[in-house]
Amino acid sequence: MDFNHDSDNNLEELQPSEDMDIGVIREAVKQMLVAFGEDASRKGLEHTPERVARMYTELLAGYRVDPTKMVNDALFEVSYDEMVIVRDVEFYSLCEHHLLPFMGRVHVAYFPNGKVIGLSKIPRIVDLFARRLQVQERMTRQIADFLNQTLKPHGVAVVVEGLHLCTMMRGVKKHDARMTTSAMHGAFRTSLATRQEFLDNISRGSEPMRF
Ligand SMILES: [Zn+2]
Repeated sequence: MDFNHDSDNNLEELQPSEDMDIGVIREAVKQMLVAFGEDASRKGLEHTPERVARMYTELLAGYRVDPTKMVNDALFEVSYDEMVIVRDVEFYSLCEHHLLPFMGRVHVAYFPNGKVIGLSKIPRIVDLFARRLQVQERMTRQIADFLNQTLKPHGVAVVVEGLHLCTMMRGVKKHDARMTTSAMHGAFRTSLATRQEFLDNISRGSEPMRF
C-alpha cells in the first residue's frame, strides 16, 4: 500500500525563522568571543557572529511552524489497519542544557484507525520538534503525542536513539554516549506482543549509528 501520495509542493524544508532577533544574537556571540579571550575582529572570526546568528534561525526554526497546518493536506482516510512503521528517520537537535547538538534516528509506528499520514510528513514532524532547544525525552514524547492527537490511531510508538555531543566531548570521553528513549500510546502500551513486534522490526538489520 502506498501512503506516499501527498503532493510534492509540500516537501520544502523548514524555513529559517524570520522573527528571531539576529542582531541580539550577533552581539551576544561577539561578546562571547571576546570573553573567550579572542580578538573578535581577526579575519577568521570577523563574520562569525553573523554566521552563528543565521545558523540559529535555521537550527531553531521548529518553534514557528504549526504542525497541524503542516500535515493537514497529507491525511488520508483509509481502511488499512495494520501496523505502519517508519524507521531510521535522521534528526539533528540542540540540547537545551549545553546548546550542543544531539542527533540520531527516530523510529515511528502506529495502528491506523481510519486515517493515515503521508510518509514524507514523518521526517518533517521529526524535524519540527528537533529544531528547538530540546531534551531527548521531551522530543520523543512530543512526536508521539502529536501523532496520537492528529491520527487518533489505535496506538502509536516512537523510539529515539541519540548521540549527545555534550556527553561525548566533555569530561570523561564516552564515544558511545548513546541514549534511547521511547513513548508509547494505546496498543503499544497495553500489548506486550505489539510492542515487541515493533521493537524487533526496528532492531532488524539496523546499523550502529555513525556520525
Ligand atoms: Zn547537554
